Amino acid sequence: MQRCVDCQTPFTWKQINKSVWLAYKPITCPNCGMLHKVQFLSRILASIMMVGPLFVLNFIAPFAGTWSFIISVLLVLPAVLLLLPSIMRYRLA
Ligand SMILES: [Zn+2]
Repeated sequence: MQRCVDCQTPFTWKQINKSVWLAYKPITCPNCGMLHKVQFLSRILASIMMVGPLFVLNFIAPFAGTWSFIISVLLVLPAVLLLLPSIMRYRLA
């Protein structure tokens, strides 16, 4: 998980997840108040991780039954949500 670049305070999963869902809103370090912006590469990676599985699922949908499709979506989306904050990287604004 990303730490504050200045004081090494680790950001929480919740903080980073919130930042991602608010269109990559910058994170303020809770300890020293330094503003961190999402790195450009992380934005691209996050977009791929969110859109990629949906694209693949959409592609296999005609071959899978409705239920197996729904179950796949229910498995993939939480996995992406869980994983995303650990791959996001921030730099000082
Ligand atoms: Zn800090």
